[in-house]
Amino acid sequence: MSEIDTQSLVDQVSGARHVAVVGGGLAGLSAAVWLAEQGFDITLVEKRGRLGGRTFSFDVAGVGELVDNGQHLFAGCYDALLRYVDTIGTADQLRWDAPPFAIRTGPGRLLTTRGPRWLPALVRNTVGLAWMAWPPIPLRDRLPALRSWLRIGAAAWNPSPELDRMTVDRWFRELDVPHSLRRLSLDQLVIGLLNEKPDRVSAFTFAQALHFIGRRALAGNIRAGDAVWPRVSLHELFVAPAERYLRERGARIVTGTQLVDVELDAGPNGDRLTGLRLADGRRIDCDAAILTLPPWSLTTLLDRSALGSHEFFAPARKIESAPISSVYVWLDSPLRMVRLAENLRDTTIEWVFDTSGMHDGDHRDGYCYSLAVSASWEVVHLPGEAFVAAALESLRTHYPEARSATVLRTKVIHQPQATFSAHPGFESLRLDQTTPVRGLFLAGDWTRTELPSTMESAAESARRAVDAVRRYLT
Ligand SMILES: Cc1cc2nc3c(=O)[nH]c(=O)nc-3n(C[C@H](O)[C@H](O)[C@H](O)COP(=O)(O)OP(=O)(O)OC[C@H]3O[C@@H](n4cnc5c(N)ncnc54)[C@H](O)[C@@H]3O)c2cc1C
Repeated sequence: MSEIDTQSLVDQVSGARHVAVVGGGLAGLSAAVWLAEQGFDITLVEKRGRLGGRTFSFDVAGVGELVDNGQHLFAGCYDALLRYVDTIGTADQLRWDAPPFAIRTGPGRLLTTRGPRWLPALVRNTVGLAWMAWPPIPLRDRLPALRSWLRIGAAAWNPSPELDRMTVDRWFRELDVPHSLRRLSLDQLVIGLLNEKPDRVSAFTFAQALHFIGRRALAGNIRAGDAVWPRVSLHELFVAPAERYLRERGARIVTGTQLVDVELDAGPNGDRLTGLRLADGRRIDCDAAILTLPPWSLTTLLDRSALGSHEFFAPARKIESAPISSVYVWLDSPLRMVRLAENLRDTTIEWVFDTSGMHDGDHRDGYCYSLAVSASWEVVHLPGEAFVAAALESLRTHYPEARSATVLRTKVIHQPQATFSAHPGFESLRLDQTTPVRGLFLAGDWTRTELPSTMESAAESARRAVDAVRRYLT
C-alpha cells in the first residue's frame, strides 16, 4: 500500500455507513444531501474546482451579482427538485409564474396563454390550454390542428414504445400536423422540452415528457405546468446552501480531482464495490457509491477501469450530447417585455429571459437579459462577436425600443454538452440506478427516470439512487 493509501478517507469516518457520491452536479448534490439527511456518512467527489455541474454561476466584470451558465426554468411539476430546494432551505428563493407560453411573432405581437388576472388560477390556465387547441393559424388548418392535438394527447396518455423508432418530425408528418401549427408552437414546444430538433429527437421522449406533466397535473398539482424562476443565482439557490448543509453534517467534499478507477472484489455472487481511486492517488474506502457522471464522462471511466468489462454499462457509450448557446446582454434601458420569458419567432434567438425582472427587478448594473438558443447546432460554433451581433439583431427585430438602448456589456456562453440528445432508440440506452455491481449505483439526468434531460431528471434519479442505497445498506 502506498503512503497515500494509508491516508484513506475512511479513517475519518465514524460508525455510520460510508457512501461516496461522485460528481457534484444536481444529481450528486441532491443524492449527497438526502443521504446525509438520513444519517449516512458522505464523501462527495467532484473533478472540477467547483460544485454545481451544469448549473453553475460565475463572476462577470462590472456586475455585482453572480451570472448563471444559462437561464434555467423549472416547472411546477418538478417534485424532486422542489423537494431538494426545500431540504437545503432555499424554496423561498423561487418565483412562481404562469405557464411559459408567450410567443412573440413580431414587434408588439405577443400570444400568451394568460387569461384575465381576475380569473382563479385553474380557469386562467384552462383558458391557456384552450388557446393551445385553437391557435391563431389559417382557418383551413384549425380543424386539422385540433385533430393533431387530440392525437398527440392520446399518444401521451400512454406512450407506446413503438414511438421510440421514429423522430418527432416523422411522427408529426404521419399525424398530418399542419405546418402552420408546427411553426407557431409545436416545434418550439419540442425543442423547449427536449433541447433537440424535431428531426433528430425521438417521438417517444416527447410523448413521455407530455405524459409526465399531465400525470402530475392529474394527480392534483394544478400548478404542474407553471413556470418557476430562480430569484437568485443558481450557485446561491442550489450549490452554496447544499455545501453548507453537507459540511454541517460532517460530510467531506473533495474537489479538483477526478474518479479514475472503481475497485471491485469478485465473489460468488458477482462483483462487489470495495473502493474508489482518485486521480491524485487517494483511495476512498466506502460501503456504497453513487456515480453521477454524465454519460460522456462515464465512457472515459469505462475505458480506463475494470467497470468497462461489464456489459451493463456499454449502452452509456452511445449517448450523445446537444448544445445550448446563450448570451447575456446588459442594456441601459428596459425592453417592453410583458412576461419574464418570451419565445421569439423567425430570429436567431429563441428565448428572451428578463433576468433582472426575475431577480426582483435588480438593475444596478443595467437591465440584464438572457438570450438563448436551444439545440443550438447552427450557432454553437459561431465566434462570440458574430453570435452577439445576431442576438442583438433578434432583439431589435422584436423589441423596437432595443434600437435606442445602449449595450453596456455582453457575455456569450456556448455549451456543446448542455444536455443529452434523445435520438430514436434512446430509451433503451438509459441505465437503471441499480447496477449489477453490488454497492455501486448510478444517478444523473440521463439514467432511467422517464424524463427529458432536465434538473428534475437529475434530482429524480438521485431520489431513486438514494432509495436503492438505503435498501442495500440497511
Ligand atoms: C445552458 C443550460 C440550460 C439548461 N436549462 C435547463 C432548464 O431550463 N431546465 C431544466 O430542467 N434543465 C436545464 N438544463 C439541464 C440541466 O442543467 C441538467 O440536466 C442537470 O443540471 C444535469 O445534472 P447532473 O447532475 O445529472 O449532471 P452534471 O451537472 O453534468 O453533473 C455531473 C458532474 O460530474 C462531474 N464529473 C464528471 N466526471 C467526473 C469524474 N471522473 N470524477 C468526478 N467528477 C466527475 C462533472 O464535473 C459534473 O460536475 C440546462 C443545461 C444547460 C447547460
